Amino acid sequence: MFVPAEQVVPSVQTQHIAMLKEVFFNLTSASNYGAGLFVCTGMGRNAFAKFLDDYPTIQIDISLLDLIKWQKDAVAALMGHELAHLILKHADMKRGAVDKILQTANVRANRSIRRGQSKDEAIKQGVDFFVLSAMKFSRELEQQADDKGFSIAFTLAKYNPEGAKNITLALMQLPEVDSIYLKSHPSAKERYAKAADLTENQTYLNEASELLNAKKWTLLKQHSLRWIASVPNSGAAWYYYGRALSRLSKHGTQLTMAYENSVENYLFSPSLGTVAQEDQTEKDIAWLNLCVALYDEGYRYESLNCYKRIRQESNQQRYRQVTKQSVIVAAGYEPLMSEDIWIGRDDSGAKLITNDRVLAQDKSANKVPPAWRAPRTGKLAVKDQ
Ligand SMILES: [Zn+2]
Repeated sequence: MFVPAEQVVPSVQTQHIAMLKEVFFNLTSASNYGAGLFVCTGMGRNAFAKFLDDYPTIQIDISLLDLIKWQKDAVAALMGHELAHLILKHADMKRGAVDKILQTANVRANRSIRRGQSKDEAIKQGVDFFVLSAMKFSRELEQQADDKGFSIAFTLAKYNPEGAKNITLALMQLPEVDSIYLKSHPSAKERYAKAADLTENQTYLNEASELLNAKKWTLLKQHSLRWIASVPNSGAAWYYYGRALSRLSKHGTQLTMAYENSVENYLFSPSLGTVAQEDQTEKDIAWLNLCVALYDEGYRYESLNCYKRIRQESNQQRYRQVTKQSVIVAAGYEPLMSEDIWIGRDDSGAKLITNDRVLAQDKSANKVPPAWRAPRTGKLAVKDQ
């Protein structure tokens, strides 16, 4: 028999339950991902993304909702994070990574034994390596879930991005649990700093979108310049700056460079990351505008190479209309990296380039941006504008 949640938890007010259902509905609709929501009382203060058989679910302890005071925007951040784990298939990735790390740990232990190390010592080092690598991988997944969760809750579902900061502040009140938890999650301080950066960026973005709709070009330019000064690695900041420039300036090269900076920061942003920006509609239009700007400047074939990155059919059509091209062939393989690439050194000291995350961690390799080289080099200086 179905028992309405209101009857099961009489202490929780009806409007709270309605709010939970509403936020959950909005987030699953915005991300176009079907899942179930389960909330219940119990001892813990936790939230999980789990499959019940094949049914993806979010499970939340009610005490955690008490901790964040049932604040709607913080609930959106919490649900966004858990949904992100499901959407990004983190459970599968974790299983695959753990297997690989185990294999690597075994190989290392056996190698040490062959080199004369005692068996006990080799096993101990193997276990240490396993724990450290698994924790590091887990931290990366948590960071990614924070980023994607932000995108779902605040970019797509348009909740107030302050919720991202509020939830990390609330989590700081939790007592420090065992060290394994701390090592497997980014620190509360790191999470707060990232949430603050993303919130600032989203707040600027929301205002810029209003200025653009109102066609307030001069204000949009000033706004974008302030935004670039504060969040220089924002793809959207450079995009809106480009939109203002296209109305206010006849300087084609400056316009192209603004869009180049935009797409570069969508592909790789050291401060905001790629995942947190990936659902912004501005991203695909930035590519469209860059391709058109390159064409206008006479970079016809660079423009076609750019055209391959436009994802939406409507934006591809727009490109063909604006450039008045009736025949376009942009085909062939080019290694546009959708995965991260790491560069480091292998055991013999030779250069190692890999997209194998575990191997990269083993060799302490550095993550580098995916391949996209703009026709020009160097960032557009905006100081003189
Ligand atoms: Zn998580």
